[in-house]
Amino acid sequence: RFSHLETAPPDAILGLSEAFGADSNPNKLNLSVGVYKDETGKTPILEVVKAAEKKILEEEATKGYLPIEGSPEYAEDVRKLVFGDAVAQDRTVVVQTPGGTGGLRVAADFMRTQLPQVKVWMPNPTWANHPAIFMSSGVPTETYRYLADDRTSLDLDGMLQTLRESASAGDVILLHGCCHNPTGIDPSGDDWKQIAQVVEEKKLLPLIDFAYQGFGDGIEQDAVGLRTILQHTDEALVCSSFSKNFGLYSERVGAICLVAADAENATAARSQLKRTVRTNYSNPPRHGASIVATILGDPQLTAQWKEELESMRQRITRLREQFVQTMKSTGSGHDFGFLLRQRGMFSYSGLTPMQVDELKSKYGIYIVGSGRINVAGMSESKMQYFCDSVASVLS
Ligand code: PMP
Repeated sequence: RFSHLETAPPDAILGLSEAFGADSNPNKLNLSVGVYKDETGKTPILEVVKAAEKKILEEEATKGYLPIEGSPEYAEDVRKLVFGDAVAQDRTVVVQTPGGTGGLRVAADFMRTQLPQVKVWMPNPTWANHPAIFMSSGVPTETYRYLADDRTSLDLDGMLQTLRESASAGDVILLHGCCHNPTGIDPSGDDWKQIAQVVEEKKLLPLIDFAYQGFGDGIEQDAVGLRTILQHTDEALVCSSFSKNFGLYSERVGAICLVAADAENATAARSQLKRTVRTNYSNPPRHGASIVATILGDPQLTAQWKEELESMRQRITRLREQFVQTMKSTGSGHDFGFLLRQRGMFSYSGLTPMQVDELKSKYGIYIVGSGRINVAGMSESKMQYFCDSVASVLS
């Protein structure tokens, strides 16, 4: 019965990590996989997470199932973090999901069953799992122009034009709330206003993938785009992830938030989201959400979390600056100043597949074929080596 099965292609990024593990070069660097790393190349557990876990270990009273929609305390914390005062509480629904990916899958299944006419407009390029998730749920997708021809900036006019000319009223527009993956290119405050106008004009339903809140400019600052959009529409979906900003990758903590026009619509939508969850994984895991709720429920732990988040964000900014400076000093003649305008962990470096290959085989530097680099994978002590290697493949 299984004899006809063909082997699926391996995940391109995870395959690189395996090769990285086997590489004996002492200067090796892994800039491929999208997780935060410290100077030693490790993905650390935040101190505040350890403190919350200690508390949970002492106080947790049951391992009984959570409700289908997850922990109510967590849901309220997520609502405040994402929306602030932008939307009335009774118009929002927050459902805890296994990571941001789980939230996206619930969103996709919800669209397939409840909004069967819609197409999802995704930026080109976007996170590779986006089209895959919508395809698995049977939701049709289209792309809008995002990356300009210089490959270092946003083609806002192209984006707005595609949407104005080709999207149908009621279609879904997928937007990255901040720290666009894979390019690192985000709309400016004014760009968001123009995007919001098209959302209103074309009656688009925004689906905002908010996987990096706090990794760009700050927790509140990173929500500006989302909140601008919400001034121009009374319905939206937001998928949040706490993998990055709490460093809780393996605990699978995320949420799908739905904004409805009124409380009655919100109640109906909640029941449909719950039905989707029930047939996917029944109810979400407790531990990661308990960590987030423990931290956000305690002002001292919250302050500590904000500090630790800020230091991750500052490290990324520092690495971007050092890289640009060090590249300048190599005299390669290539200006990487565009990295300073980008936000989050990722950047489209402009390196070609051949250059990427050479970096791997000659220098033990691992980057995905598209040239996307995880800036957090750089290291201050290996910056000179890294930049000399990049300069040599560019020459
Ligand atoms: N959206 C984007 C754009 C991402 O980059 C990621 C993580 N790579 C996610 C969603 C999902 O994150 P997770 O499921 O790990 O919470």
